[in-house]
Amino acid sequence: MLDKRKFYINGKWVSPSKPNDLEVINPSNEDPYAVISLGSKEDIDKAVKAAKTAFESWKKTSKEERLKLLEKLLEVYKKRFNEMAKAISDEMGAPMDWATEVQTGSGQAHLEDFILRLKEFNFDEHFDSKSSNHICYEPIGVCGLITPWNWPINQIALKVVPALATGCTMILKPSEIAPISGMLFAEMIDEAGFPAGVFNLINGDGAGVGTHISGHPNIDMVSFTGSTRAGKLISKNAAETIKRVCLELGGKGGNIVFADSYPNAVRDGIRNVMSNSGQSCDAPTRMLVEKSIYQRAVDEAVDEANKIQVDLGSKKGDHIGPVISKTQYDKIINLIESGISEGATLAAGGPDRPNGLNKGYFIKPTIFTDVTNDMRIAKEEIFGPVLSIIPFEKEEEAIKIVNDTSYGLGNYLQTENKEKAHRVAKELRSGCVYINGKGADPGTPFGGYRQSGNGREGGVWGLEEYLEVKTVTGWK
Ligand code: NAD
Repeated sequence: MLDKRKFYINGKWVSPSKPNDLEVINPSNEDPYAVISLGSKEDIDKAVKAAKTAFESWKKTSKEERLKLLEKLLEVYKKRFNEMAKAISDEMGAPMDWATEVQTGSGQAHLEDFILRLKEFNFDEHFDSKSSNHICYEPIGVCGLITPWNWPINQIALKVVPALATGCTMILKPSEIAPISGMLFAEMIDEAGFPAGVFNLINGDGAGVGTHISGHPNIDMVSFTGSTRAGKLISKNAAETIKRVCLELGGKGGNIVFADSYPNAVRDGIRNVMSNSGQSCDAPTRMLVEKSIYQRAVDEAVDEANKIQVDLGSKKGDHIGPVISKTQYDKIINLIESGISEGATLAAGGPDRPNGLNKGYFIKPTIFTDVTNDMRIAKEEIFGPVLSIIPFEKEEEAIKIVNDTSYGLGNYLQTENKEKAHRVAKELRSGCVYINGKGADPGTPFGGYRQSGNGREGGVWGLEEYLEVKTVTGWK
């Protein structure tokens, strides 16, 4: 059993104020393999004090000084890349190839891109040539960073790296369900040589440590990625101190497959939903198919879903692993059962365990057809390998169905008609629209409309989240 009970405060690994152990479970076998501590108000107070003190000197560092440390962090990250992949695979059950190339790779890509953006970023600029006014971009202060388990290092890098880059100090609270990758990242920050107090890590649950962070009077900003449920609680609790609250929340993406889409569009759509065992906020979980190709699309979707293997996270290969926890497993099975009882057609998968996997939180890639948008499976974020297929006749009808949700994170569309693609992309109410399976490049902004959140992470937008903007008159 790995002993990971210490927190990283003021440049040192220290014991919690009072013991409160939590076992970390490997979802592939349901066995506990590490123990962490759940922190308390005293631990948060200590970390905030360290971050507040460190801010006084860290905010004055030059861009070049911070770049040097970030470049060192990138070097350490690359050196310990395989350790990170193993940590992610163990804590969330991601198959080794996926954990290595995609999950761990995303952390490196964000580090590289933020270094590039920081190099180009101007923290001081004149308002315009006729004015004497000057604009300063200044770090917002002490940040509370709260992250989920599903893309653990991706989410951590999207917050910690821009906070470091802009001269903020911070307290990170990784997900208590998948905390080991975050702790390894803290070791890397320590090894890179960032000054004590700039970065601190406290483990804990949402109701305890999470609430202390969102309500803390000396925390200037909270950046949160997780469920819309928790995002609402954080916003309410943060309101008393008027801190900045950046939210990256859930989604229920639509994927419009027009009759003139490219040949592999349906199969790619299935892979996209099922990858990461369906645990991605911007997964295209509602596939809308034009009626003239509906039966062909259903046949392809079922064939593709049945080809996807489910197996242990420790194995290499292009299979999918388990879902994260017993709670998630039960929630997903309950939603699959609701789809059956509400009258959708179960075309692939279902609530039974995959063959030969009697331990671990494994779920078969599941497809429902003839779904209507008022069914629970079309409305709620399932966060498992489950897809709903909904037929449509007209373009306007498809747009209306996709937008008929409280979320607005990632939507997808497939057509070889460029004009139609542009027209529909503009109508979809979401922070990202992916045309013909093309992924977003590093440095583009990521975030949601409506109940998918209010923040934009990545690139220059990701840096700006951590900055205050000041007007100074009479500068020139
Ligand atoms: P979650 O909301 O249960 O937990 C996320 C984090 O918030 C954890 O660290 C948790 O301890 C903490 N937390 C929970 N309640 C809290 C509270 N009241 N106050 C403060 N902190 C609290 O979410 P999860 O199950 O870990 O992650 C899955 C969710 O994250 C999904 O809804 C998914 O769509 C979303 N997500 C969104 C994005 C995005 O960029 N929009 C990216 C990844 C995941």
